[in-house]
Amino acid sequence: MDETQPTPTWHDVDPPRALTAPEQGVVDVLVAAFGLPALRTQASEVRVSGRCACGCSSVRLTTTADAVRAADLVRAGSLDDGFHLAVEARAGRGRSARQVVLHVLQGRLHDLEVFVAEGVAVPLPQPRHLRGITVTR
Ligand SMILES: [Zn+2]
Repeated sequence: MDETQPTPTWHDVDPPRALTAPEQGVVDVLVAAFGLPALRTQASEVRVSGRCACGCSSVRLTTTADAVRAADLVRAGSLDDGFHLAVEARAGRGRSARQVVLHVLQGRLHDLEVFVAEGVAVPLPQPRHLRGITVTR
């Protein structure tokens, strides 16, 4: 489903802010799907450093915790030079359907997409409503 979404342009959030409780809840559930302890550590201290310029609820993330080792990323399924990994999930249905995608770049949490449509801000789904949690690359 990624290909239907524009590449986000980010407005800096400076200084970076803590995740909201709903953001943290979603990140924690998605991170668990990777099964990589280094990403759990990152998720515990990650901050929001940017918001999507289009007005949707996607946020760019920043973490100073150790990156996942390249060998672990490859074992988790990463194939490309950027050591990209993602985990996606869906929530809701009909007009309230939304997709969330947590991206990992170079071994660090990079952004959380919360997508319904271009420019549409939506509340984050409850973690327990996430389904179809799938690691992609
Ligand atoms: Zn956006």
